[in-house]
Amino acid sequence: MKNVVLLGPPGAGKGTVAARLAREFGFLHVSTGDLLREEVARNTPLGQLAKGYMERGELVPDEVILSMVRQLVDAKKGILFDGFPRTLAQAEGLERFAEVDLVIFLEVSREEVVRRLSSRRVCSRCGAVYNLVTKPPKAEGICDLCGGPLVQREDDKPEVVARRFEVYMKDSAPLIAYYEKRGLLQRIKADRPPEEVFQAVSEVLRA
Ligand code: ADP
Ligand code: AMP
Repeated sequence: MKNVVLLGPPGAGKGTVAARLAREFGFLHVSTGDLLREEVARNTPLGQLAKGYMERGELVPDEVILSMVRQLVDAKKGILFDGFPRTLAQAEGLERFAEVDLVIFLEVSREEVVRRLSSRRVCSRCGAVYNLVTKPPKAEGICDLCGGPLVQREDDKPEVVARRFEVYMKDSAPLIAYYEKRGLLQRIKADRPPEEVFQAVSEVLRA
């Protein structure tokens, strides 16, 4: 089975499409953001180290991320990487322990991601992702899946979103050319409803 990287700015919809792809295609979904948030919630040494970077919208150091991901790679199952790699050093590091077969770049404008992030809400218990405008929960403030309370991520507040976007442009956007040069990049227009994004990505995966 293939190892796939989902690339795109914060708020592009990586986590949303990844959750469904994992269910329907059987990928192991590896979201470094989710993994780090769990470490922070459990107040582990890794969580303590990551917390400040995350609150500021900066990247957690490459070595920390690479050693976290390396432990999860299972050669038997296709992996869907979400939010990783985020730097050229991470992409090069990844190649030392896993092959990348395909990279899907979710293309969406800055205005749209800012809009999406300001209305994103997440379940503080299970991590499910909602949107007040495009994907509201059935009951206000309550997770459809586990009944947990929905919250706004601290790093979805406007000042931090601006920094995260800057960091994305400087450190992560060069990955587009990096994977394009290797013939691995597929661009998907992601400024359309989740169902259409999912179908477009599914088509690429089946090709
Ligand atoms: P990422 O993982 O790339 O940061 P998310 O999957 O968390 O992005 O999506 C960001 C926000 O946008 C969430 O509130 C989500 O519900 C919403 N969203 C995701 N995909 C779409 C889409 N195709 N159209 C509109 N809103 C979307
Ligand atoms: P995300 O959930 O993908 O938006 O990530 C939230 C935050 O976690 C980021 O702003 C970073 O601080 C940190 N993070 C997640 N993935 C990585 C990564 N691959 N490299 C460095 N930092 C990361």
